[in-house]
Amino acid sequence: MLWLRVMGLLVAAALACAAARAAYAEPQPADGCKRAAAFRVIIDVGHTEKAPGAISARGVPEFVFNLNLAKRIEEQLLAAGFQRSVLLITEGPARRGLAERVKRAKELAADLFLSIHHDSVPSRFLEKWEVEGEKRSFSDRFSGHSIFISQDSSDYAGSLLFARLLGGQLQERGLKYTPHYTDPIMGNRKRRLVDAHAGVYRYDQLIVLRTTGMPAVLLEAGSIINREEELRMGSVEHQALVSAAVTDAVEAFCTVRRPRTPANVANRADEVSRQATAPPAVAPEQR
Ligand SMILES: [Zn+2]
Repeated sequence: MLWLRVMGLLVAAALACAAARAAYAEPQPADGCKRAAAFRVIIDVGHTEKAPGAISARGVPEFVFNLNLAKRIEEQLLAAGFQRSVLLITEGPARRGLAERVKRAKELAADLFLSIHHDSVPSRFLEKWEVEGEKRSFSDRFSGHSIFISQDSSDYAGSLLFARLLGGQLQERGLKYTPHYTDPIMGNRKRRLVDAHAGVYRYDQLIVLRTTGMPAVLLEAGSIINREEELRMGSVEHQALVSAAVTDAVEAFCTVRRPRTPANVANRADEVSRQATAPPAVAPEQR
């Protein structure tokens, strides 16, 4: 019964082909990063409960805004397949919180470090108003987000790349960065704009950007001392918009970046040391 065996083989081959086609046709995320499951992002919640950063126009600590937005970002990253994402919450007074932040980030050996903050203004710009019988400070002078990187990062090229991707994604969603950090009026808080299109500034002395040993970016999501922008920063819709921008930027970064291996990390450090310029003129700053 040779013909029967031949028919059997032909049917088996046809079935195998169909199975292969079915496997091939399985839905894939259109622009998903193939190694998302192995890629680790640290979403650092700026400040601590005890040392909560700026105080908003209505008296809410910055730490609360940072925590809410960082949680949403983590949710969206997990939903997009970045299962190793870590929400980094630190405790205690500012200095101890900072040391712990850097130590934990290093231990996690991640591919990317993103610190979430909300902005205020130098105290000379503050005006007074009253909220529910309480005297509060505000300044409606500036609005918009800003992105910071440090040239002293062990991976400056990676930091700049992610910062640009993030700035581009925020811009695509109609969000505008604030240009006021280039204004001499900012005094010692004046920063150099390294990408005027994406809104990326250099802030070399910032400890979390210099010492975490990976591409590191700080996002000031908006000004909570601005009365209108504070309300926007508190809205779930706005948080979802920023989280989507972060997730798409992480996706793009993960797609173009080589995996973190000891050899790649050493090569990048070498690249950066060759590009290195003068050391920071001012003492390291905490955030
Ligand atoms: Zn802050």
